[in-house]
Amino acid sequence: MDTELLSLFRKELELCRVHEGEVLTVLSAGNEKAEYAQAFMVAAQALGARTFHVNVPRTQPIVSGVQGRHPIAGNQPAIDTLKQANIVIDLMGLLFSKEQTEIQVTGTRILRVMEPIDVLRQMFPTEDLRRRVEFEKQLLESSKELHFTSAGGTDITYKLSQYPVISEYGYTFEPGRWDHLPSGFSFTQGNDGAIDGTVVLMPGDILAAFKSYVRSPIKLTVKKGYVTDISGDGLDAQLLSSYIASFNDPRGYAISHIGWGLNERANWHQFAVTRNLSNEHVMNALSFYGNVLFSTGPNTEVGGDNDTPCHMDMPMRGCSLWVDDIPILKDGHVVHPEMKAPGR
Ligand code: FE
Repeated sequence: MDTELLSLFRKELELCRVHEGEVLTVLSAGNEKAEYAQAFMVAAQALGARTFHVNVPRTQPIVSGVQGRHPIAGNQPAIDTLKQANIVIDLMGLLFSKEQTEIQVTGTRILRVMEPIDVLRQMFPTEDLRRRVEFEKQLLESSKELHFTSAGGTDITYKLSQYPVISEYGYTFEPGRWDHLPSGFSFTQGNDGAIDGTVVLMPGDILAAFKSYVRSPIKLTVKKGYVTDISGDGLDAQLLSSYIASFNDPRGYAISHIGWGLNERANWHQFAVTRNLSNEHVMNALSFYGNVLFSTGPNTEVGGDNDTPCHMDMPMRGCSLWVDDIPILKDGHVVHPEMKAPGR
């Protein structure tokens, strides 16, 4: 077994406070991430936990329409088994499904892991990252309004308070809490019908589902929580329009989660280096320090009922952002003292 992987996962499980007497269950599909599964189990045992592996085929038939999007939907024995664990290492992707919620409410904490090891190492969580991301969460929880602007013409306001706030700092030790290794941001959702303004995506902003950088400006008009117009002279506006339209689902135009990135070790430029590697996920793009994580599509992550499969994360650079008029970002730089990374 790869000793670096083993020591990295042991460090991670220590952050997750896995201890003697706990049960750690790995969830995976097919032969994906088999080395991660073994390394997590060996690391858990070294910490005194009992451990086993729930593995299902990736190609399970879809059970019940939109909810059957992951391979254990409808597999109640597997779901019931996962509820017995103190912590589930999710290598499969429960994807904020109702099954994930069903497991969490029993007190089982869940850690999602999908990035390759070099990304896990590069963005590995710290106590300080947790402190800053939890500060972001508390700030969003106590705020009534979020507003952000950019030199490119963005000016949009979200009314807040209807939906919960979720923090992602890369480990989890609280019963029932979900997290994703590695991460570095918090997010919430604007109130239903209460997001209005304009978003202008500029060159260098990211279209995560495409793993690509915007090269020509895209202007989105937002009214009452929905994108009502997509315009722009270049190719990118056409690509985004065509992509969303292809779902034939008006709920794909909804504005989704909002927050800002705080992981100073995540790279904005990551896709320029690795975009052709199919095993790279998007956590660098979502987490990089000072981005505004703007997005469209579903709101099931925060308990809403829009479960459209059309989701686009669009991390933006160079924005200025306020919550209840408290300055958080200025031109893409974190200016709030409680959220600045060490040395920034
Ligand atoms: Fe997202």
